[in-house]
Amino acid sequence: MNTRIEACSEVEANSSYKNINKASFIENPKMKKEALFWKPMKNQIVQCFLCPHHCIIAPEKHGICGVRKNENGTLFSLIYQACSSIAIDPIEKKPLYHFYPGSRVLSLGSVGCTFRCDHCQNYQISMARPDGQTLRDIPAEQLSTIATEKGCAGVAWTYNEPTIWHEYTREAAKMVKEAGLYTVYVTNGYIEEEPLEEIAQYLDAMNIDVKAFHEEFYKKFCKAKLAPVLQTCERAKKLGVHLELTYLVIPGRNDTPSEIKEFCQWVGEKLGGDTPIHFSRFHPDYKMTDVPATPLSTLLACHTAAKDAGLQYVYLGNIGHGDYDNTYCPSCKSLLIERYGFSVDLKGLAQGACSRCGAAISICMK
Ligand code: SF4
Repeated sequence: MNTRIEACSEVEANSSYKNINKASFIENPKMKKEALFWKPMKNQIVQCFLCPHHCIIAPEKHGICGVRKNENGTLFSLIYQACSSIAIDPIEKKPLYHFYPGSRVLSLGSVGCTFRCDHCQNYQISMARPDGQTLRDIPAEQLSTIATEKGCAGVAWTYNEPTIWHEYTREAAKMVKEAGLYTVYVTNGYIEEEPLEEIAQYLDAMNIDVKAFHEEFYKKFCKAKLAPVLQTCERAKKLGVHLELTYLVIPGRNDTPSEIKEFCQWVGEKLGGDTPIHFSRFHPDYKMTDVPATPLSTLLACHTAAKDAGLQYVYLGNIGHGDYDNTYCPSCKSLLIERYGFSVDLKGLAQGACSRCGAAISICMK
């Protein structure tokens, strides 16, 4: 099967989608909803427990994510059904390589993030707050219709951090699943156990960014912690969510051979050697423009380290080199999936197994 997919195309608010209105948050009360996972404290102060920051928020102030606000002692989400971006993407762009390969996915983003990464590539929306933004009001019940009409097999919450969109995504994901479509999070993994368990009931796949394998990096460059991210990876796996990891390799920041080796060993031990891993090339961006792009030699060393650690499906992203985008049978080494950009050719797969040797391949597909 050869499935060509166009690069990201924006879904316009055209005549087919009259009910996708462009509106600012201030004018649209539907985008504000009482938050989940918070508790009142003294003097109208509240504490949020959605993510491991556990922000203590004074009246009229926001949490670190910028999208949860204490109004008169009640915590509100300011981004309920509020979309900054909506587009049709190939699922490979998330990246998810072992999940409905060749399918299109309706991709949605809002604003805000729990992290403050110096190297953020989506900082225009991740660092933005809802007020003052032009956001589209897209009710949860419309998503499956839009996705189906646009030829998408599922819906992904991506572009900014989806975990902070919990009140909307848990309702929307439930409806999307009921309509027979798949659901995806592309996330930094910063979410507490209870909300993760809640959303996981309706989530088919996650790509989690592991941004480094030492705490200092998370503290210095992301203003967060590594340990909760690793916990989320392990919990997601146990909850039965299809999991792939992305590790953006940044020269001089998170690329020592020992760090990469420890990361790969952890994946093998805690998540399993069949977990797909994407080592991705860094390009200077946002506040990290003083660091050069990742040399190909470093990425190749990451690939070797992962293979040495027994990881079966290792990919190199942003290098435009086909061999490291392809999927090979871990048993007989046959080419199973050939990828050119976002073109996908399922050459050697038959019903989830290698068509040459019959080995079962860890992949979700129809
Ligand atoms: S979700 Fe936002 S408000 Fe809640 S703890 Fe995390 S950063 Fe703070």
